[in-house]
Amino acid sequence: MVKGITGRWVLNTLCVIVAIILFAVVALSFIVSTYFYSSVEQNLSGRSVELSNILSEFNSDSDVAFSSAARDYVENFPEKEQMEITVINSSGLILVNSTGFTQDTSISMPDYDAAKTSSASYAKWVGRLPSGEKVTAVTRMVKNSEGDTVCAIRYVTSMSEIDKVVIGAIIVFSLVGLLIIAFVVFSGTYFIRSIVRPVQNITDTAKKIAQGDFNAQIDKMYDDEIGDLSDSINDMARALGAADRMKNDFISSVSHELRTPLTAIKGWAETMQGSDVPDKETFDKGMGIIVKESARLTGIVEELLDFSRMQNNQMMLMKEKLDVIAELDEVIYMMRDRAQNEGKHLLYDQPEIVAPVMADRNKLKQVFINIIDNALKYTPQEGVIGIQLVLSDELIKVVVTDTGCGIAPDDLPRVKDKFFKANQSVRGSGIGLAIADEIMALHGGTLDIESGIGVGTTVTLTLPLAE
Ligand code: ADP
Repeated sequence: MVKGITGRWVLNTLCVIVAIILFAVVALSFIVSTYFYSSVEQNLSGRSVELSNILSEFNSDSDVAFSSAARDYVENFPEKEQMEITVINSSGLILVNSTGFTQDTSISMPDYDAAKTSSASYAKWVGRLPSGEKVTAVTRMVKNSEGDTVCAIRYVTSMSEIDKVVIGAIIVFSLVGLLIIAFVVFSGTYFIRSIVRPVQNITDTAKKIAQGDFNAQIDKMYDDEIGDLSDSINDMARALGAADRMKNDFISSVSHELRTPLTAIKGWAETMQGSDVPDKETFDKGMGIIVKESARLTGIVEELLDFSRMQNNQMMLMKEKLDVIAELDEVIYMMRDRAQNEGKHLLYDQPEIVAPVMADRNKLKQVFINIIDNALKYTPQEGVIGIQLVLSDELIKVVVTDTGCGIAPDDLPRVKDKFFKANQSVRGSGIGLAIADEIMALHGGTLDIESGIGVGTTVTLTLPLAE
């Protein structure tokens, strides 16, 4: 059994075409053979009418003039070679025969027998002579003006030549039919191959991709729908490869992120556990670092949990009416020391206004922390981080500007994608902006980034004001 597309093509197309061609060959052969046989009969019938008209003028076949008229016609008949004429008298005896031989009267003449009883006084017979030769014979009963039968005239012609022509035509039709089928099979096979091969190729490559080989690419064979499919699968493999690399980078970044505070905590814990009891100053410093690094660890784990909730669409907001500026003040207060320690200038003029919004306090702070943390992370010493507020009737904008490294134009559209890191040399998991953007969207706000390499970055957070 032929399976797949080839099988369906054989069943739906080839079988139908073969059936149509078979039908056409049979129908054409039938039409040709009917045409030739009926032309022969028409010819014989026409001839018989001709002689019948001559002989019907006589009243009886015993008339001398009748015999001589019949003989005369038969002897001078121009197509004697092609057909045999027999005149049979009313007693059933053969009067004249164009072959010149007296025919055996016992020979079977079904057309003569039928014509005698036929109301049309005419009958036709197609059959084989005792010699095996195939013939067409017609018999016409000749009647005089009174309606009495004068004689019967019989025309017989061999069908051997006609049969040869008919068989020749059937052979030609069959050959043409076979030629058409061969052409259909050839072109169909070529067409099917042009589909099956690329599909097989795509299947093999898709299997490789499924097994994790994201470098597998399909050779595009044709510039058609299958070519488009190949392009899409190649793009998909590249995208999966990139996503896989990003995932691996993410795991390694997160591991580093977790290891740094853990190393500090472990180091200080061991110092304090050691035999020498540390002095109060060292103890306080160690405990301070342990607390700070634990908080950092908690922050990382919280971020990961948030990311996981975001992926499962399970991030819940506990909204309440609050003042954005108060929350921002708190975050900036927290960040000031760090900016100072890192030698960066954090510029913020606390405005004497209130900007009420409906928001989740912790999530909103998390966004501010993330954006200001990025600004500090990607800005070198002596760099400036400015925070401004723009208040309109319905919106409040928090604009965080830095004079840091900036983001390349190619990377800018992707920085909000999960796991994406434009800058591999700086610590970070690549999910901070993705989470911040999601939180802003859940508050009905936006997070927009403008940046230029060497110029710096501006992040604008927009929130709708509460009534
Ligand atoms: P990360 O934890 O790596 O900072 P984010 O999602 O917060 O992840 O940021 C994604 C990427 O965007 C960063 O890796 C960095 O390349 C770029 N980026 C974000 N903020 C800034 C900024 N203020 N200046 C320069 N690049 C930035």
